[in-house]
Amino acid sequence: MLVVPGLHLVDGMEKGVVNAYVWERPDGGLTLIDAGMPKDAAKILAFVQRLGLNRLDRIIVTHGDVDHVGGLAEVQAATAARVICHAVEKEVVEGRKPREMGRSPMARVYGPLVNAVSRTVLGYRPLAQVHELVLDKTFLAPEGFQVVHVPGHSPGQIALFEPKRGILIVGDALNNRDDRLGEPPRIATPLPDVARASIRKLAQLPNVQVIVFGHGVPITENAAQRLSAFAGSLPQ
Ligand SMILES: [Zn+2]
Repeated sequence: MLVVPGLHLVDGMEKGVVNAYVWERPDGGLTLIDAGMPKDAAKILAFVQRLGLNRLDRIIVTHGDVDHVGGLAEVQAATAARVICHAVEKEVVEGRKPREMGRSPMARVYGPLVNAVSRTVLGYRPLAQVHELVLDKTFLAPEGFQVVHVPGHSPGQIALFEPKRGILIVGDALNNRDDRLGEPPRIATPLPDVARASIRKLAQLPNVQVIVFGHGVPITENAAQRLSAFAGSLPQ
């Protein structure tokens, strides 16, 4: 599905659980943003095939959760694309550090469970090595993206902002399930206060016109108003 010219939402992802995006770059190349669940790799590759598989040479990972990096190793192996993530998220993306779920009793059970289920039931195999690391305010010239570090849900989560057209890709910094803005799920958000600060940080970006989410439907109208109203409604 074309969200706006140059930005595709990959169709037919596993049970509509999570979104991945393809960005058509000015230089003719394609950048994949996130790689879905393990089973989504084939769907992503089939989708990109229509645009030209050999054009896909960069993959940006918003964060290291299994629903965003599940298909990463397979898509990377099929395309030899360069993989980019935040420096703090590198070890999680490479499967060398478990995803931290926080310190609540529920999270202590949930965290190891997610890590175990990802590998056994879902068949998740992490990418061996990330190629390029970014930080807050890194400018990714090929895409025209400004990196916005949005920790809280995970320590090295990033959003991507294309300032010329005001396109904002938020990962799981917030979601839009059922077309209603929401905070990332508490059980998988070790630092909810930090996550809220990240939402406020995104609401400060100038001229936001379009927002796309890891979970939920894109916003193409009144984006800045909706984002700032939501940020303003969050408890301090
Ligand atoms: Zn997610």
